[in-house]
Amino acid sequence: MGKERLLPWLVEFSRVNAASLAKGRPGDLPNLIYELRQWLDLEPDEPLNREVGDLERGPPRLQAIIDRVAELLEAVADRKRFRADYSGGGVVLDASKLAFAGGRALSYRDAKLQDAVVRVALDDLYEDTAAALRIQRCQEPECSKVFLAERKNQKYCSHRCANKAASRTYRKAHGKERAARERARYERKVKERAGPSVKVARRPRRKRQP
Ligand SMILES: [Zn+2]
Repeated sequence: MGKERLLPWLVEFSRVNAASLAKGRPGDLPNLIYELRQWLDLEPDEPLNREVGDLERGPPRLQAIIDRVAELLEAVADRKRFRADYSGGGVVLDASKLAFAGGRALSYRDAKLQDAVVRVALDDLYEDTAAALRIQRCQEPECSKVFLAERKNQKYCSHRCANKAASRTYRKAHGKERAARERARYERKVKERAGPSVKVARRPRRKRQP
């Protein structure tokens, strides 16, 4: 997987619903698992290969890994701390891969796939901090999902959320004007019905709570 694809892939991965993917089109789950393998860049002899293969049989196990990645990316988006504990396992540096773009020179021989995924994700975030800082949380309260911003000051994940926020701001600013317009229309209607001599009574104001 090319370097520029690593973090975008990770963000997409963190949003996957494994159960619905398994029920979706027949190729979807195997495709995701294939991509996971590409992203991890596992050596053929790594024991983790088997655990990756087994993911196809159990969406809950895959979901646990996705959720852990989502937790990590949320911490990044919120600029908070994330802690991963590990014990055992090992790290192998294959120096022959250092000059080879797209290959991982470091491979984690962790006992558990989930630990390896988290460590590789941490690696990717640390490796490309400029891209990592583009991981943001959508400012539209009803959405608030984690996304990879294309521009530095991008506050919303999509046009849809940006429009929603803009129309809320507009409504807030023009709420009074609209209330006045509605009252004028109401008065016109009453006058039309009852003739011009009728005065329209204002509704009594609600007393303020002390
Ligand atoms: Zn959004």
